[in-house]
Amino acid sequence: MDDTAAMKILDGVGLKKTPGRIAMLNIFLEAKNPMTQQEIMKKLSRVKLNYVSIYRTLETFVEAGIIHKVESGDRVWRFALGNEKKEGHGHPHFTCRSCGITECIDEIKVPDKIPLKIGYIIEKQELFLKGLCPKCSNFK
Ligand SMILES: [Zn+2]
Ligand SMILES: [Zn+2]
Repeated sequence: MDDTAAMKILDGVGLKKTPGRIAMLNIFLEAKNPMTQQEIMKKLSRVKLNYVSIYRTLETFVEAGIIHKVESGDRVWRFALGNEKKEGHGHPHFTCRSCGITECIDEIKVPDKIPLKIGYIIEKQELFLKGLCPKCSNFK
């Protein structure tokens, strides 16, 4: 994969184009589903980065709005391309209890803050769904 797309994204948010960042962005660009830090580490073949560097790069990407953090209720953060804040809405994440895959459900738009009755202040909003994915539910 050539680096054009990754370089363009880094340029777009004004981040320095280091080999590590480019390598990590390429992994995100190829990934279909949110990945844990472990999974990202395993996919890094071209550039060797240690755990701390990967962690820092993920934080930088989240702050820059290139990727978003995915909570799926198992205390393991996953990361996926896309900035929910900029789009003005979020999307739920679905975890399959059978195969363990976590997906961004992009076609469902969740308002930035779910409208609750007056008096409630939402400080954290994370919508995660659990169940069986189409493959595991034998959906034909
Ligand atoms: Zn499944
Ligand atoms: Zn997502």
